[in-house]
Amino acid sequence: MPRYERTYTTQANFILHGGDYNPDQWLDRPDILQADLELMKLSHINTLTVGVFAWSALEPEEGVYRFEWLDKVFDDIYSIGGRVILATPSGARPAWLSKKYPEVLRVNAERVRQLHGGRHNHCFTSSVYREKTQHINRLLAERYGDHPALLMWHVSNEYGGECHCNLCQEAFREWLKKKYNHDLDALNAAWWTSFWSHTYTDWAQIESPSPIGEHTIHGLNLDWKRFVTDQTISFFENEIVPLRELTPHIPITTNFMADTHDLIPFQGLDYSKFAKHLDVISWDAYPAWHNDWESTADLAMKVGFINDLYRSLKQQPFLLMECTPSLVNWHKVNKAKRPGMHFLSSMQMIAHGSDSILYFQWRKSRGSFEKFHGAVVDHDNRTDNRVFQEVTKVGKMLKKMSGIVGTSRPAEVAILYDWENNWALNDVQGFAAETKRYPQTLVQHYRAFWEHDIPVDVITKEHDFSRYRLLIAPMLYLVSEELIARLKEFVANGGTLVMTYISGIVDEHDLAYLTGWHQDLREMFGMEPIETDTLYPNDRNSVHYRGRSYELKDYATVIKVQTATIEGVYEEDFYANTPAVTSNQYGKGQAYYIGGRLEDQFHRDFYQVLMEKLNLRPILFVKHGKGVSVQARQAPECDYVFIMNFTEEKQTVVLEEKVKNLFTDKEIGGEIILDKYEVLVVEKKREIHSNNKSIK
Ligand SMILES: [Zn+2]
Repeated sequence: MPRYERTYTTQANFILHGGDYNPDQWLDRPDILQADLELMKLSHINTLTVGVFAWSALEPEEGVYRFEWLDKVFDDIYSIGGRVILATPSGARPAWLSKKYPEVLRVNAERVRQLHGGRHNHCFTSSVYREKTQHINRLLAERYGDHPALLMWHVSNEYGGECHCNLCQEAFREWLKKKYNHDLDALNAAWWTSFWSHTYTDWAQIESPSPIGEHTIHGLNLDWKRFVTDQTISFFENEIVPLRELTPHIPITTNFMADTHDLIPFQGLDYSKFAKHLDVISWDAYPAWHNDWESTADLAMKVGFINDLYRSLKQQPFLLMECTPSLVNWHKVNKAKRPGMHFLSSMQMIAHGSDSILYFQWRKSRGSFEKFHGAVVDHDNRTDNRVFQEVTKVGKMLKKMSGIVGTSRPAEVAILYDWENNWALNDVQGFAAETKRYPQTLVQHYRAFWEHDIPVDVITKEHDFSRYRLLIAPMLYLVSEELIARLKEFVANGGTLVMTYISGIVDEHDLAYLTGWHQDLREMFGMEPIETDTLYPNDRNSVHYRGRSYELKDYATVIKVQTATIEGVYEEDFYANTPAVTSNQYGKGQAYYIGGRLEDQFHRDFYQVLMEKLNLRPILFVKHGKGVSVQARQAPECDYVFIMNFTEEKQTVVLEEKVKNLFTDKEIGGEIILDKYEVLVVEKKREIHSNNKSIK
């Protein structure tokens, strides 16, 4: 089962350390630019992302180009042994462009055209903007395509948002015509527009959803979000035409995001679709460490989850494109990383599959919006401060870890995340407005594996399920017939599947299935959900499972069992003593259904049973208390294991095997005390333990 291949996504055989560099803000300060090179060498920086918002510096007037400064930056970085990730500049455009071609300005959902300003404020359909971005990208590819420092393309920046201008409305209608084969009746049927007399009789009547107009047709809302993803990808594809043509050997990425408060996947775009157009996934991670609403360990678990999702998108290592070495300037409270946290959080990214630690930003800008955003180099240029020292330590240690580059993280457990399902669930009028919490529910299931150091892939419906032994698909409200068939095949062939309340309710158009629960689901699970009870936030029920009572809140599904075994029952309300948790043998596999939203302890105990049954084990067994995470990457010849203390106390861990401490080259084992936020990275040779059952 484990796959040990290396995937050199960056074509570099070292872990990238560096980040966003904006020399375009300092062109009148050659002394600063010279100092940068010295400071980069001191802090073991090897890769700089250049040009993210440099359009004004590259093309100050239409058709007037200034590349000399960038030539020098390329040469300078190369002269210190560094590499360049070159960004295309479309993330923010020059004022002259907006003034001359106002069609490039975005129109919001209220149909108000935005003024020039900020960044990312452009229409993805505008042919002018597409032409202008492709042209400047071509010039960049022509000029720097053969430069030995060029490592990768960073296309635009943090794509997101929607435009509702007339060009976009027309493109949306064309997209719909294609999707529905020019059959307006088919669209009306798929969207159930006979409701409230919303039937369309002409394509021209269709408009994107708006708070001041149509927002009650779920099928329209869902198709609009699909269109926004497709249109963003189409814009991206237009940007990369000259890059693919002139630099086919240079990998292409764009930086993905996460919603910061709960660190859930970015909601605006379906990254599972976007991923197919990229060579490498990269993302910008800004967890709010040391916040006042959750423990450090709980946040670390969420970081683990989202890393496992973004790594699984392409089933290969990813890049951490941005993180802060200290603090940000845009959280509600911008708290600095405590001593040790930068090193620990960096190691966690590598542990979950990153081949880089890249910062936003190298140097603090002197003015404007991000002058107080954390950076490696502060306004005072000093090297003796805590941040510069911690960055230097990371750089030094990453050099010892180059064997990790390109290594995989084989997993036998997968959790299924689906962007479309999330959109549909958030949009649906029903259940409870505040407690749907689909991504958070996935994290709840992830917890049991994170606490037991069992590797997990967080996959999407495009992935092959057959490589996993356990597939967990909570709250899969929207599920197509095709996906149901694939889930059924997975179980029939011996897989173990876990589904929950609010699953299998609507098809891909967000139309309810008319036959009750789908026949295939009924057969697979040997039961049928009859009714979903939605509870008020302060309501509680409980479930009796294997001799214990577990607290239930938010949702409880009333179940009618056919062939399934009843594993747990509700304890309260009109469905007291009826089935709450069931299992069913189907083909060679097993299908479990969890009817209610249960407390964390339930998931721990429930999955503990499955871990034993399926013989799921960590890569290296380390005995430890709560808040310590052990994660691993696997090379052909060894495992690299990260033992991380995400608590504010010392922790005792016990290693059952002798392994090599990668930082000291010393052999360690037995009882070890980890300091607050301390991390150990160890190397476990594979041939010594060739009889280990988990390695086949
Ligand atoms: Zn537009």
